[in-house]
Amino acid sequence: MINQDRLWNRLMELGSIGKQASGGITRLSFSEEERAAKRKVASYMEEAGLTVYEDAVGNLIGRREGRNQDAPVVLVGSHVDSVYNGGNFDGPLGVLSGIEILHTMNEQEIVTEHPIEVVAFTDEEGARFSFGMIGSRGIAGTLVRDQLQNKDQQGITIAEAMSEAGYDPSAIGQAARPKGTVKAYVELHIEQGKILEKRNASVGVVTGIAGPLWLKFVIKGEAGHAGTTPMNDRNDALVAAAGIIQLIEEEAAKTGSTVGTVGQLQLYPGGINIIPGKVEFTLDLRDIDEAVRDKVEQRIVTGAERLCEQRSVRLKTEVLQRVAPAPCSSVIQEKAKEACVKLGLEPISLPSGAGHDGMQLTELCPMGMLFIRSKDGISHNPAEWSSKEDCADGANVLYDTVLQLATKE
Ligand SMILES: [Zn+2]
Repeated sequence: MINQDRLWNRLMELGSIGKQASGGITRLSFSEEERAAKRKVASYMEEAGLTVYEDAVGNLIGRREGRNQDAPVVLVGSHVDSVYNGGNFDGPLGVLSGIEILHTMNEQEIVTEHPIEVVAFTDEEGARFSFGMIGSRGIAGTLVRDQLQNKDQQGITIAEAMSEAGYDPSAIGQAARPKGTVKAYVELHIEQGKILEKRNASVGVVTGIAGPLWLKFVIKGEAGHAGTTPMNDRNDALVAAAGIIQLIEEEAAKTGSTVGTVGQLQLYPGGINIIPGKVEFTLDLRDIDEAVRDKVEQRIVTGAERLCEQRSVRLKTEVLQRVAPAPCSSVIQEKAKEACVKLGLEPISLPSGAGHDGMQLTELCPMGMLFIRSKDGISHNPAEWSSKEDCADGANVLYDTVLQLATKE
């Protein structure tokens, strides 16, 4: 069993870095706060007896050798960067649990066949540059120079921020792990939803990470005088949009797994006494099954076209982003469920609606995730909270899962 006090104390101590007056945490990538957090994490890695190093994209890594130094490595990890005014658990839980399980293995003098590395990935959240998962893309070998041109609010590019922090943007390729050198990747994270809380469970095994599909809808009708245009002689773009938004809710709800959200909407010209002539809105559609998601998309778009035709308004849709969902490895899910049972926990399966670094690694190695209960499902918020006991349960399931993966088969 892991040392739950040590894990909790480190979570609280790390949580003091980047703390805002509001109580939230802001640790943007390549910032002074993030650097301080990484220094602290490096000191924990050293205390745990790990070999500490950084790769070419700034991933901070602690390595524990296996009996066979050349065997593919088992990776565990998460991130220590945060969103603006975020919480204390999103990211740090996975990094500190990874260190904790290796610290425990060292104390118990456990020998594994495979080496194990714990990684604090560079910029998972994408808060600073609106482009995230930089560290995991680097390890996957999919990070390209063009992507380093994304800018922050001050106009500083990722490449410039990297240089300023002492990394060489032209060397990012060196962070890529060759195929066959990574046996598995496992991450412990907070759920950021209410499924576990509703099931009264501390830990869950993730079935897959939903990939977001972002669509933009533009509806063109005809603006007109709100007082002089009769109801039967209007081409109201907003009323058509309202019908589509209702359709989105209905179609997403039908599958039982899909989630669809209209999060942005603008209407033009936007006068209190003018019939809206044009409406633009976005759709975020997710499912862990790509075929299911794409079928829902098709139903929505077909239904929207029909609705617009009936209302004599024009519709244009545009794909802003189409990310494939990432299924978790069934082998890792089985091992994690076994670990739950050993610890007397009900093995609960659930999907991840939020994106995580593991999505970037599916081409490189089998990927798995564990969730722990989030109080009221809140995250990316100073009120984000998971109990000490739940953190310990999650870390113990991680411990056993990783031990199984690092053992000779
Ligand atoms: Zn996270």
